[in-house]
Amino acid sequence: MDAVRRPIIIAIDGPAGAGKSATAREVALRLGLPYLDTGAMYRVVGVAAMRRCIRPPLQPACEEQLVELAGLLEIGFTGDPRDQRVLMDGEDVTNELRTPAASVMASVVSAVPGVRREMVRLQRQLAAATGGVIEGRDIGTVVFPDADVKVFLTASPEVRAQRRFDELVGKGVRTSWDEVLEQQRKRDERDSTRADSPLRPATGAHILDTSGLTLEQVVERVLALVP
Ligand code: C5P
Repeated sequence: MDAVRRPIIIAIDGPAGAGKSATAREVALRLGLPYLDTGAMYRVVGVAAMRRCIRPPLQPACEEQLVELAGLLEIGFTGDPRDQRVLMDGEDVTNELRTPAASVMASVVSAVPGVRREMVRLQRQLAAATGGVIEGRDIGTVVFPDADVKVFLTASPEVRAQRRFDELVGKGVRTSWDEVLEQQRKRDERDSTRADSPLRPATGAHILDTSGLTLEQVVERVLALVP
């Protein structure tokens, strides 16, 4: 009897600014696969929390409230990978998700185990039927440990900060390079030292340092790994 083949899953993990989004979007487009940005999902929870005046440091009672919120929020995506819009209970919140405050809050809420449980459940549900290129921090380690391809993208802190700085300035956000580097350092530390699903390369992941590579080179290297 033929084994039932599940749709292909390509996991792309790594720290902020390593080039995950640009790479994952392009790989998804070229392979005609759905693209799932799991960071955006934690950002939605962070924005929803900020709107309810929840700020760090989180109190234990707040954590329970956050888990409930994460379970109730309707998170959706529309558009193609290059111009994807993110919906929170039907409202387009794409631009709000990219502010420095939303980045900090996403990282803070993502350390709450109950929030992660809700997001992982949703991620598995979204990708189960269609497969896809899924970017995040724990895709290869926790969400889809049996992914067909696992890539861990990285780059030097300075290169990553420069990319983030250029992106923010391009969007008209007022910030300085030093501030971006410092926020990135704190976010990296929080993401890689949290008890639940810390950022680290998965077993079997291909580690790719993108510091000296163009986007096209990175995309080609990922495509070469696809069976
Ligand atoms: O990738 P992005 O910068 O949008 O992610 C925002 C934050 O969400 C990260 O700093 C991280 O704390 C969290 N995150 C996570 N697990 C994922 C994706 C993102 O904890 N799979």
